[in-house]
Amino acid sequence: MTDSPDPDDITARMDELAATARRCFDLRLQTNAGGNLSVRLKSRDAIVIKPSGVGFRECARENLQVVMLDGTVLSSSAHLKPSKDLEFHLEIYRRRRDINAIVHCHSPWATGYASAGMEIPCLTVQAVEKIGRLPLIPLTENLGPQTAAMIGPVFEDHGIRGAVLANHGTVGVGASLAEAQYLAEIIEETAHIAFVRDTLLLSRGRPASSEPRFGTASDEQAVSSVESQDR
Ligand SMILES: [Zn+2]
Repeated sequence: MTDSPDPDDITARMDELAATARRCFDLRLQTNAGGNLSVRLKSRDAIVIKPSGVGFRECARENLQVVMLDGTVLSSSAHLKPSKDLEFHLEIYRRRRDINAIVHCHSPWATGYASAGMEIPCLTVQAVEKIGRLPLIPLTENLGPQTAAMIGPVFEDHGIRGAVLANHGTVGVGASLAEAQYLAEIIEETAHIAFVRDTLLLSRGRPASSEPRFGTASDEQAVSSVESQDR
């Protein structure tokens, strides 16, 4: 039997989450009622998460949901339930004690890359430093949405701070909501920069694949296979 979370802790995290959601909406990282975000309570055994069917702009104390890490929903308005992506949020929190916040958006530039089945190349100094690698998680074998069992293990690697879901969107994580939010912004900005670069290169007849790419999972695989051949 665990203690009930501190009401002041819940209120503070709800206000923080609502402010972050509003920033996402204002930056057009997420429109309509899609995407979701969550934050871990200070007590660490529960989270506050956006409800299903409510837009980022409308997140407020009255509609946000409190869920224990074992999936028990503690407070919920009668007509609302936690985001349908609750399971993958819980899976990441259970696996990574260093992660206290998750921001998941369907931001268009990054989701465009993911929907083309292309990894987003981390081209800039900032992207390499802040993201490092950005794995692309494919759809299920039946072409269904990614499951918690597919997303969770990717974040088992403590070097992973973000991922892109094919035909779906982005996931940014962090020790705080601000960190996770910045990741969501940097992922989108990186995809936008990559698209502009690739378009300019193509307009001059230079294929993008001939240019350096940094920080993707493909790069890591290439480096590891060279290293294993050297052994
Ligand atoms: Zn989504």
